[in-house]
Amino acid sequence: MSKPSIYLDYNATAPVRPEARDAVLRAFEAAGNPSSVHASGRAARDIVETARAQVAALVGVVAGSVTFVSGGTEADALAIGSAAFAGFNRIIVSEGEHDAVLETAAASGLQVLKMPLDADGVARLDWLEEALSDEGRALVCLMLANNETGVVQPVAQAAALVRAADGWLHVDAVQAAGKVAIDFTALGADTMALSAHKLGGPQGVGALVAGTRATIVRQQHGGGQERGRRAGTENVAGIAGFGAAVEAAARDLPAMANQGTWRDALAERVKAAGAVVLGEGAPRLPQTLCLAAEGFASQIQVMSLDLAGVMVSAGSACSSGKVKASRVVEAMGRADLAPFALRVSGGWASTEQDWISCGDAWLAAYSRIGARRREVA
Ligand code: PLP
Repeated sequence: MSKPSIYLDYNATAPVRPEARDAVLRAFEAAGNPSSVHASGRAARDIVETARAQVAALVGVVAGSVTFVSGGTEADALAIGSAAFAGFNRIIVSEGEHDAVLETAAASGLQVLKMPLDADGVARLDWLEEALSDEGRALVCLMLANNETGVVQPVAQAAALVRAADGWLHVDAVQAAGKVAIDFTALGADTMALSAHKLGGPQGVGALVAGTRATIVRQQHGGGQERGRRAGTENVAGIAGFGAAVEAAARDLPAMANQGTWRDALAERVKAAGAVVLGEGAPRLPQTLCLAAEGFASQIQVMSLDLAGVMVSAGSACSSGKVKASRVVEAMGRADLAPFALRVSGGWASTEQDWISCGDAWLAAYSRIGARRREVA
């Protein structure tokens, strides 16, 4: 009997939606450069502008606010680089930010301050208020939802503080987009990063959304594409897939609530066996579960589940494929659990049975570990 193949690692990358795959293939047929004035060029331009309108609609902005880039990492870098150019003298980043923000901030040459998280993984706005009262204008980076815990951050409240201090608020919404409704204006963001592959589009394409207070300054030089904000021929097929995925994700948003029900049922099962669910006391994305069971190392969990045909991530799988202790869990004051964090994340094609099978595999692996420990003792 072949083992089941269950994919619950959507926060790493979501399977490509059929609508996105079809749009990519159609775009390849168009074959023009969107900067060319002839018919093929105009067809490619149409594809890009249709997708721009689709992405803009997802977050409630006008199409001109959207700049296509190569993904979430570049969107974060474009925002941070633009703020640095605008004369902001320091960057405040939450401890939960993705490396795309943390490493770019560190490389910017500006002073970087870390906003702590509380025990549920929520950024401490009391700390932010105090930090903003210091002299000089700040760029504040606060993600909408954390990639490891799914914890949704109090972005609108942070925005009020940032506005009052004449700062710039960059929101990394890479994990939130397509999983919860997003209203860019209501959140009070100045810039927002999006990535196609987290919501069922292709890898290697994303967008930076910018409000009227933010001036985007291109970080790579060349042609005048994307209204001079991002040089380089657009990834037309990728952008087409992004637009189609965004539209499908918006349509499917109500169904995401099911993931929350199935996720919570799994959470109850693992808690009954002694695991801890991280960020449980905070609002979270419906499809993300971060759990930890002392003594059950992240890497062992990932490998055991993989052998059972269930694909999940360690709390902090880094891009090299190595597993480090989760720094987000550490920042939540649970350094004791950081080496044991596991992330289970579903999405548009995940079924209730996927979550149940994941629970079965996890419980079986955990009880084997327990039995082995009892033998050794
Ligand atoms: N920001 C967050 C919160 C992420 O989870 C990721 C990817 O894991 C990124 C940024 C980077 O996005 P991309 O892979 O599109 O560069």
